[in-house]
Amino acid sequence: MADLKDTRRKCTADRVDGLACRAYAMESGPCFWHDPSQTDLRKDAALRGGSRRSVFIPIGEPLGPEEARGVVRSVLEGLVSGAIDAKTANAAAYLLQVNSRLTKTEEFERRLTAMEKRVVNQRR
Ligand SMILES: [Zn+2]
Repeated sequence: MADLKDTRRKCTADRVDGLACRAYAMESGPCFWHDPSQTDLRKDAALRGGSRRSVFIPIGEPLGPEEARGVVRSVLEGLVSGAIDAKTANAAAYLLQVNSRLTKTEEFERRLTAMEKRVVNQRR
């Protein structure tokens, strides 16, 4: 299989369980969840959620079909090689399904709007 080495920088902090954090690092160094300068933002989000358990999730770039297929392959290779556990792979597969549904809905909406415009224009 092709070398899928991820060149993006990873967080340098340790998780509460002592293992290395695998989240992607921000420009400031650690990931969002380990960046001390984001503490207020995280606390604020937790308070607004009414619970310390609520998690603020930064909004990422939309996952395009090409990227989604790349993630599928990476997760598959990770699963087969043992780097990713089945539970994580299942969660990733579910989120990829959600992403696929969102993409299809957007495409459908776009085509429907275009068709509606054409129908309105033909009646004029
Ligand atoms: Zn981290």
